[in-house]
Amino acid sequence: MKDQLIELKRRLMEIDDLNAIAALLNWDQSTYMPPGGAAARGRQAATLGRLAHEKATDPAIGRLLDALQPYADSLPYDSDDASLIRVARRNYERAIKVPPEFMGRFFAHSAGSYDLWTRARPANDFSLVQPCLEKTLDYSRELANFFPGYDHIADPLIDFSDYGMKAASVRAVFAELRSQLVPLVEAITARPTPDDACLHQHYPEDRQLAFGVNVIKRFGYDFRRGRQDKTHHPFMTKFSLGDVRITTRVKEDDLGEALFSTMHEAGHAMYEQGVSMDYEGTPLADGASAGVHESQSRLWENIVGRSLAFWQHFYPELQATFPDQLGAVSLDTFYRAINKVQRSLIRTDADEVTYSLHVIIRFDLELDLLEGKLAVKDLPEAWRARYASDLGVAPPDDRDGVLQDVHWYAGTIGGAFQGYALGNIMNAQFYEAALKARPSIPDDIARGQFDTLHGWLKDTIYRHGSKFTATELLERVTGGPLDVGPYIRYLRAKFGALYGV
Ligand code: ZN
Repeated sequence: MKDQLIELKRRLMEIDDLNAIAALLNWDQSTYMPPGGAAARGRQAATLGRLAHEKATDPAIGRLLDALQPYADSLPYDSDDASLIRVARRNYERAIKVPPEFMGRFFAHSAGSYDLWTRARPANDFSLVQPCLEKTLDYSRELANFFPGYDHIADPLIDFSDYGMKAASVRAVFAELRSQLVPLVEAITARPTPDDACLHQHYPEDRQLAFGVNVIKRFGYDFRRGRQDKTHHPFMTKFSLGDVRITTRVKEDDLGEALFSTMHEAGHAMYEQGVSMDYEGTPLADGASAGVHESQSRLWENIVGRSLAFWQHFYPELQATFPDQLGAVSLDTFYRAINKVQRSLIRTDADEVTYSLHVIIRFDLELDLLEGKLAVKDLPEAWRARYASDLGVAPPDDRDGVLQDVHWYAGTIGGAFQGYALGNIMNAQFYEAALKARPSIPDDIARGQFDTLHGWLKDTIYRHGSKFTATELLERVTGGPLDVGPYIRYLRAKFGALYGV
């Protein structure tokens, strides 16, 4: 048994090595690669992807997993070995169910679709991508149907990023969240809009970057096992548990851009840096799900980084960094500016209160498309109708409407969006549990001390990696299932005080 486990781990580490090398090539492409490298880099990434897929679907892995199953069954569910065998089996069975021939066709289609989208969006012309998107919907259904026995056709697609979450239960939770958020947004936006002009002065890049780095070092992001570079779109990437990198984007006329994206990506990275070193090179060295990952980034960005307690400590440092810009701006004005709520068109620019509504709209439309209730040709109109009813804004064109996000144009329809809103719901659940266990956290944050919160997160969430599913983790940490209650309570308390509603 021991030899078989060693052999399984050796094979899994080879797959992990190939994936990590691919991630490194991708990081290089996004940061420092000269444009001349693009063609060869695409080929190199495809070669690595093919090799990793071959290794991940090698029948020898299936035989090892079968041989090890009695051993796994003899162990407690949460033991490291049983969890490794369980997660490795899940990945293996998922990989072998999708024929390589399909993946080849789908990747070629996605590349063409993405290319069309890069032209359709600036041209504000949905008709350019419509036929292609219709094929994407067919491909998405075809992919889901490699996993028969589902309750809803979106379930297998959701499993790829948020394993175990079901369309029906997510839809119900989102419906409840929506019913609470729509009136809250109405009440807030009926109040005077805060002036955020203080954020839109000239802020030199070098000082912005230095301030952000100082903040995330204090959070606990470990620069001996990470680094930060600049990219067009900020992201986190991992090559090993000893090398978890982030990127950020600076706008010299918008102080919030780099600062909050740095906190966000550091939240993702601290999660990965906190995974138990025992899991290095195995499928357990990963986050539990897209939603749980997003809960960790948003916890540091929003619950901590946009809190009054945080800025009571850090605002004097920020003023000292930018004395000309902020020397005469009060903490109250600054705090209101970074928490400005507005009805808006663009998901990625949305504030804490409206953000989930943007996501729920996309999730509902995905389900309608997959169920055949909505035709692709009617999607732009359905998009406008939902923005009008949920957010009270009407996109003047498709560029800032149905064409704004890349997801449907470079991947499947279904499974891509729910994690963003699940993250908001879960981060409030986790934070409520953290406060119950460590009541000093808010006072510690106000003193610029984050060890209490970071230590609790490492202990209860980070170190487990992907040992538990999101649902299991919620049960273990909060004692219950996915629940919008804590998130709504958090929003009502914070924005109720800010806006007097
Ligand atoms: Zn994120």
